[in-house]
Amino acid sequence: MSFKENVNLHVDKSAKLLNFSNDLLEHLKSIHSLIKVNVGVVLNEKIHNFTGWRAVHSEHILPSKGGLRYSETVDQDDTEALASLMTYKCAIVNIPFGGAKGGLKINPKNYTMPELRAITKAFATKLINKGFISPALNVPAPDVGTSEREMEWILDTYKTLKPDDINYRGCVTGKPLHRGGITGRTEATGRGIEEVIREIFRHKDIIKEARLKNELKENKIIIQGFGNVGSNLAKHLYNRDNAKIIAIGEHDGYLFNKDGIDINALIEFNQKNKSINSTKLGYFKNNPSELLELNCDILIPAALENVITIDNVDKLKAKLIIEAANGPISFKADKKLYEKGVIIIPDIYVNAGGVVVSYFEWVKDISHIRFGRVEKRFQEQKIQEIIDLIDKKTETKTDFNTIKNIMHGADEEDLAFSGLEDTMRNAFTEIYNVKKKIKKSYRESAYYVSLKKIRNFYTEEGFPKR
Ligand code: NAD
Repeated sequence: MSFKENVNLHVDKSAKLLNFSNDLLEHLKSIHSLIKVNVGVVLNEKIHNFTGWRAVHSEHILPSKGGLRYSETVDQDDTEALASLMTYKCAIVNIPFGGAKGGLKINPKNYTMPELRAITKAFATKLINKGFISPALNVPAPDVGTSEREMEWILDTYKTLKPDDINYRGCVTGKPLHRGGITGRTEATGRGIEEVIREIFRHKDIIKEARLKNELKENKIIIQGFGNVGSNLAKHLYNRDNAKIIAIGEHDGYLFNKDGIDINALIEFNQKNKSINSTKLGYFKNNPSELLELNCDILIPAALENVITIDNVDKLKAKLIIEAANGPISFKADKKLYEKGVIIIPDIYVNAGGVVVSYFEWVKDISHIRFGRVEKRFQEQKIQEIIDLIDKKTETKTDFNTIKNIMHGADEEDLAFSGLEDTMRNAFTEIYNVKKKIKKSYRESAYYVSLKKIRNFYTEEGFPKR
């Protein structure tokens, strides 16, 4: 079964609960526009050909939003599946974007930096000229194999081709700060997932149902993938929640330490060596797939799609699975896990933090002002006035260090993370309440929340109700 078929089976299940009509369901599942491009780039006096796609799953709200992936495994079906996940994701977290995704079939490790820049610019030129990248219509962001570097190259290309677009900075998100990016975007997906896990541990009924230990730090955690999402999630869990991460998996194997891995040391090692192999932080085993079968309480796949399938599902020991990656569990494996009582918090909600902060970045770009610029000093002045008043009334003098700690007007990062936390917590409550009502899995409940909102858009536009 393909990735897209897997996603659509989940959509069918929740649409049935909502009594969707067949015509609306078919329209919803279809890809609204799609481009396939072949890009020829001259490298070492030879033309190299690359194939890429950009799929817009839904145009019910514009711009459509979704990452751009560089990988040898990129194909049209996966790009369409990932685009559809973006539509459902944005609806769950109330972000006013349609869903899109793009990808280029390439192994970026085989090319030098100048070569990748030339390839990215050629790919971006095609997409821009055909209307598949623009601040008003279609806005990419980093995904597997891309980062703020590629976003900056795309931004440069857009600016050259459209010098009269005053909102040109909004043509991509996840770009560097000095080019209109937002503080915190790189770590936003990981940070958002941490908020999801914190929210779960605020619900004692879920902890009981999952047979987890009461405190987050008492549970053994495994993370698959130490890229952007996995490493930032691990960093926040380790530093802010004292979490015990006993194993981290990468493409060539996994690092294990039964007492918990020192994540800060691992991040430093990985930055220097571009690998988590050969550290002194635990033992490394060259068997990447074994990771998922290790004894643990919480399993967090944060690398690729389709890693938990009917072939390995019976070997899993986790009680709670947090889908940080897109589509890590196949439809059939998902059903088996649900029947076994394993709680799965689904991708379309879990990893939405990236698009939430991307939305803040896009708003910043089109409003041409950074968050906090106007009010930060005003807030500090008001706090000072309150402290002075309390001191006067109580005839005391607040010491300098206390004043320094309290007197901090919100800056861009504070506001972005505050908005992220609020969004993730509100979305959790929506899903949780629906789950109680329909008595189905978290995934069905999340799709239910999403589909209901999307249907409202279509009916407002004159599509027949149901
Ligand atoms: P990334 O390329 O930064 O990291 C992926 C990591 O997984 C890499 O370190 C890679 O070496 C590792 N990996 C590859 N094969 C593996 C294997 N078999 N076992 C273990 N590790 C393996 O990508 P990312 O941005 O961290 O994205 C990871 C997942 O999260 C993807 O599914 C992506 O679509 C999803 N996602 C990312 C974002 C974002 O903001 N970056 C947002 C939402 C969803």
